[in-house]
Amino acid sequence: MGKRTYGKEFGFMTRAVHTGNDVDAETGAIRRPITMANSYELPYDPSDINWSGAGGNLYTRNGGSNQAYLQEKLASLEGGEDCIALASGVAALSGLFFALLQSGDHVVFGSVTYIAAYRLLNELFNNKFRVETTLVDTTDPDAVRKAMRPNTKLVHIETPGNPTMMITDIAAIAEIAHEHGALLSVDNTFASPFNTRPIELGADFVIESLTKYVNGHGDAMGGAIIGKKEHLDLIRAQSQINLGGTISPFNAWLIMRGAVTLPLRMRQHNESAMKIAQWLAAQPGVRFVAYPGLPGCKGHEIAKKQMSPGFSGMMSFGLNADHDTHNKFVSCLKVITSAVSLGHDESLIAFLGEDDERQYLYPEEFHGGFFRFSVGLEDTEDLIEDIRQALEKVGLA
Ligand SMILES: *Cc1c(COP(=O)(O)O)cnc(C)c1O
Repeated sequence: MGKRTYGKEFGFMTRAVHTGNDVDAETGAIRRPITMANSYELPYDPSDINWSGAGGNLYTRNGGSNQAYLQEKLASLEGGEDCIALASGVAALSGLFFALLQSGDHVVFGSVTYIAAYRLLNELFNNKFRVETTLVDTTDPDAVRKAMRPNTKLVHIETPGNPTMMITDIAAIAEIAHEHGALLSVDNTFASPFNTRPIELGADFVIESLTKYVNGHGDAMGGAIIGKKEHLDLIRAQSQINLGGTISPFNAWLIMRGAVTLPLRMRQHNESAMKIAQWLAAQPGVRFVAYPGLPGCKGHEIAKKQMSPGFSGMMSFGLNADHDTHNKFVSCLKVITSAVSLGHDESLIAFLGEDDERQYLYPEEFHGGFFRFSVGLEDTEDLIEDIRQALEKVGLA
């Protein structure tokens, strides 16, 4: 049988299952194998090979087969032309910035983004490479418009933003970026391509930390950049092959396997998180809940426009209590695990105290310390009961 392809005429679930998989030519297995090889046999006369090239099987840092299969699936799910899968979400962020930005370029980026994006742009790229950066509350399109300069090369946003859950209007920011001749990258890790596809809303690049929802099982790290082939060819040459953050074949295979169930998992994450957010919002011991699916939350109207069918499994909340009571609450949880990362099968919670250096950029209600909560795939009732009994133990129920 020839190579099977699954275009736009197929639904998201069909593409999540089939894209990137095929019959193995050697054995006839209906699963493609994991190719744990660093290197590939050279042709009779290798003298004219471009050792820094991405085409063909040469050396796994330049590109391997498991990486290629995963890239095919992710490009399809995000609705992009091409994809580069790298060793982590941060490798994807740094790879994008490294290839795109030159000294003297200007970047506008969200004041609340993943901490490594903040460090890369606001500390490393401007100090080492004289890239100008402006931190902006991207939930306000007018603030983004005002921040644009003639040398603005890139606008980088994250929505929902980690950890405040702030929602940025992707279509509105894409229009502003393009009016000013800049490109837009969107970190879509919190929403996942099941709920939001930024390229369809006008973004030039999507960043995913595959470590989170796309893999979904907490056992592999990876990252991806999705976008147009002309841009990605440049990023692949500069940032994958010469910076070297290529994903391992085994991790690519694990993430490929995890991604098959992304639609099913996300449906459950969406449903449980909505129920839990509503329940939390009704508890007197809870100081605030930030979940884009709640009608009272800032950004809900925009979230309704660009997040569908659901609002994902991430939320933040705080207790009507002091610092230590937050820690005590976490120690009383029996089902929910205290750990960083998110989008795993199991529920994860992390207490982010009130001494974060970016505290001044967070909304007022976050200032007393808060939890970032990744709602997992356990029974919703068990999660609610876990939170209820912990609230009771610390005297808040
Ligand atoms: C975790 C995360 C990243 C970084 O991904 P890693 O795989 O940990 O390198 C980037 N952006 C967001 C929004 C994240 O949550």
